[in-house]
Amino acid sequence: MSNPGQPPPYSQPGYTPAQYYQPPPPQMVPPPQSHTVIIQTTRPSSVPVSSGPTRITCPSCHAQVLTTVKHQATTRTHFWALILCLVFCWPCVCVPYCMDSCQNANHYCPNCNAYIGTYSN
Ligand SMILES: [Zn+2]
Repeated sequence: MSNPGQPPPYSQPGYTPAQYYQPPPPQMVPPPQSHTVIIQTTRPSSVPVSSGPTRITCPSCHAQVLTTVKHQATTRTHFWALILCLVFCWPCVCVPYCMDSCQNANHYCPNCNAYIGTYSN
């Protein structure tokens, strides 16, 4: 006794062969765009050269501005804090963080808030 209405099992509707396998994309991640500013020494008058506010021409808005300086603790700041903590006592830890000479000076444009450069001691 035969059953001609039964379709063969390999042609069942809904069966999708695994031909849509997509290989993972290659990990070609470009290096992140850092905000490192290369200070050009060929034009010293246009870059911050001191730890204090400096009058420059902003590379972003091209205005003559007096930079806003924000001091940032660096590895050296933490180093001196550790030294002071070991040699003297722990309240001295805050000293390097209060001294501008132990920190980097980040210059920002007060006009457009663009990051201009860093003065490191
Ligand atoms: Zn600006």
